[in-house]
Amino acid sequence: MFHSARIRLTCWYLLILAFISLSFSAIIYRDFTSELEHSYVIAEYRIRGLPIPATRQKARLLLQEEFNISKKNVLLRLLFVNGVILGIAGIGGYFLAGKTLQPIELMVEEQKRFVADASHELRTPLTALKTEIEVMLRSKKFKIGEFRQLLKSNLQEVDKMKTFTDYLLSLSRYEVNGKSLPMEKVHIKTILRQAIERNMSLAKAKKIKLNLAGEDIIILGNEISLIELFSILVNNAIKYSDNEKNIGLSISKERRTVVITVKDEGYGITKEDIPHIFDRFYRADSSRSKISEDGFGLGLSIAKSIVDAHGGEIKVESQIGLGSTFKTTFLL
Ligand code: ADP
Repeated sequence: MFHSARIRLTCWYLLILAFISLSFSAIIYRDFTSELEHSYVIAEYRIRGLPIPATRQKARLLLQEEFNISKKNVLLRLLFVNGVILGIAGIGGYFLAGKTLQPIELMVEEQKRFVADASHELRTPLTALKTEIEVMLRSKKFKIGEFRQLLKSNLQEVDKMKTFTDYLLSLSRYEVNGKSLPMEKVHIKTILRQAIERNMSLAKAKKIKLNLAGEDIIILGNEISLIELFSILVNNAIKYSDNEKNIGLSISKERRTVVITVKDEGYGITKEDIPHIFDRFYRADSSRSKISEDGFGLGLSIAKSIVDAHGGEIKVESQIGLGSTFKTTFLL
C-alpha cells in the first residue's frame, strides 16, 4: 500500500514543482524581455538621434531614473509572482499533505478497529471465566464433581483464547512476512491430503464425505502455509454444512495456472456477505443464515494473506441452500 502511494505522491510532487517552476520561468522571461526590449528601443532612438515617440513615456526621463524605475518594476513583479507562487505552493502543499496522510490515516483506523475487535473477542471468554470462578468462590460448600466441572469449563474458555491468539499470530505472520516465506517445489495433492487429514475427525463426527480428484501438480510454494490455507477452506466447508453432505476437492490445470477448488453442499453465503467474508473478524449474520458456528471471523483473512503471499487469487461462488465453491488459483 505504501509503495504505490509513494510513487503516486512523487508524481504529484513532480507535477506541482514542474508547474511552479515553468510558470515562474515564463513570467520572469516575459517581464525581463519586455524591460530589455524597452531599454533597447530607447537606446536605439538615442544612438540614431531620432525623436523618442510619445508612447515610450519613460524615455523622456534621464537614463539613471529610467534604470531605477525598471529595477523597481522588476522587483515589484518578482514580489507579486512570488506571492502568487507561494499561494499556489500553499494550496498544493495542503492538498499533498492530505494525500500523504491518507494511507496512514486509513492504517491507523484499521489498527484501531483491529484492537477493538480483538479485545472484544478476548473479553467474552475472560468474562465467562471470571463469572464462573466468582460464583464458585461465593458458594460455601461445593462438591468435588462441581469443582471438576468448573475446571473443565474454564479449560474450554482458555482453549478458545489460545485458538484465538494462534489465529492472530498466523495473521500477523503472513501479513508482515508473507512475501519472505521460504518457497520450494511442493506437490499440491500431498498438501490437500494433509489438509483433509487435519479435518478428518470433524468430518467423521458430521458423517461428511471428503473426495479428492485431479492430477498431482507441482508448484512453487510454502508447504506449511499452503496446508494451513486448504485446512481453513476444508474446515469451513465442514463447519457450514449439514451432516452427511459431500465435499469435493479438485486440482486442474488452466493455461499457465493451477486451479484448486473446494466445493461444499452447505448453507451457502448470501450475496451481501460475499464481498466481506475475507475481511478480518467478519462473520456472516447467523440470524440470516440460521446457523451459529464457533469461529472468530479470521480464517478466511488468513487464507487470503497466504494466497497473496504466493501471488495467487482466491474467489468464491455461492448459492444459499446449495453450497459454496472456493476457487484458488496459482501461477505455474
Ligand atoms: P469463521 O469461520 O471463524 O467465522 P472465516 O473467516 O473462516 O471465519 O469465515 C468468515 C465467514 O464466512 C463465516 O463466518 C461464514 O459465515 C462464511 N463462510 C466461510 N466459509 C463458508 C462456507 N464454506 N460455507 C458457508 N459460509 C462460509
